[in-house]
Amino acid sequence: MKTENKTPYQGNRRTCGYFQCKKCNKHWFSANTWANCSQKCKSCNSDVYPYKQVRHQKSDEPPKEIRPHPQEMCQKCRQLGYFCGSRFNSYGK
Ligand SMILES: [Zn+2]
Ligand SMILES: [Zn+2]
Repeated sequence: MKTENKTPYQGNRRTCGYFQCKKCNKHWFSANTWANCSQKCKSCNSDVYPYKQVRHQKSDEPPKEIRPHPQEMCQKCRQLGYFCGSRFNSYGK
C-alpha cells in the first residue's frame, strides 16, 4: 500500500510544524510534529496537516512550546499513547 505524502516532511524525526486550518483560518505552531501526522484545530476540531515543517537543528535548542503540547489534538500522541516529544522516543536511530 502506498502511503500518501500528507506533510512536507517525510522523515522519522520530530519537526517543528506550522499549521493553518482551512475551515476557520486559525494558525498555530507546534514544536512536535511528525510526517503524515495531523493535529486537530482547537476551534473547529478538523484534522489539519502542517503546511510547513522545519527540522530541529542539532546546534539549536529545540524551540519550547509556549503552551503545553496538546496531546489530545496530536495524531502522533494518540497513536503512541504518550507524549510524542518524550525523550524516550525522539531522535531515534
Ligand atoms: Zn479550524
Ligand atoms: Zn504529539
